[in-house]
Amino acid sequence: MAKFNIITIFPEMFSALNADGIVGRAIKQQIINLAFYNLRDYTLSRQRKVDDKPFGGGGGMVMMVQPLFDALEAAAQQPEGLGELIYLSPQGQPLTQTMVNALAKKPTITLVAGRYEGFDERIFGLKPGLEVSIGDFVVSGGELPAMLLIDALARQIEGVVGLADSVVQESFMQDRLDYPQYTRPQRFKQLSVPQVLLDGDHAAIVKWRQQQSLLRTKTRRPDLFCKRSLTAEEQLLLNKLE
Ligand code: SAM
Repeated sequence: MAKFNIITIFPEMFSALNADGIVGRAIKQQIINLAFYNLRDYTLSRQRKVDDKPFGGGGGMVMMVQPLFDALEAAAQQPEGLGELIYLSPQGQPLTQTMVNALAKKPTITLVAGRYEGFDERIFGLKPGLEVSIGDFVVSGGELPAMLLIDALARQIEGVVGLADSVVQESFMQDRLDYPQYTRPQRFKQLSVPQVLLDGDHAAIVKWRQQQSLLRTKTRRPDLFCKRSLTAEEQLLLNKLE
């Protein structure tokens, strides 16, 4: 079982995860377990405030360090502790499949979702952790990025995705994009499914998919294509297309 501690002011947002077929099932089957720490339960303010004005002026509010520190202390006191501590932040390391695969091996992960203008910087000294970004853009809070991370991690945990094979084949798993997929009907608006997929020759299908995956990666994501050198067989498959 993998445990996720989630520090947030909007725990109810995470109910969206229950609605997802794959992750929802993993939660029901207790393959993954979510524990919530609502920051408002840890504030010393009578108004349950978790934010305040920035020192030095400027627009927006900043997440106060005290409620966050106390919520993290409370999570740390549980038998599993904090495990890997992750702050969702646009200033963090960009999330990649390699990072997801490494994190999926951790039994416990604590995710901190920011709001407003972000965290009081002192929390990073008091409770050091990994800052993770879901991309070079800013969203309003860390809840959606945290859910996205939980989904990506859950897919790599044994028993979550029915066919383990389909996960291994997926885009980015081997620094390659996935191959094109087709389903019924065989013909739609005069467009047919590639014949090789209909002929029943399994070895030919594997080769064709490998070839398509290589071509797709080379044309759409040359950066990814260059990350790993081609095997002799892959080079041959690609040469046949070019
Ligand atoms: N002022 C911050 C900045 O410019 O770096 C942005 C704060 S943002 C409005 C509020 C919170 O949303 C952040 O603390 C973080 O938790 C979350 N967030 C926003 N964009 C994100 C991203 N790309 N990746 C991860 N978390 C993000």
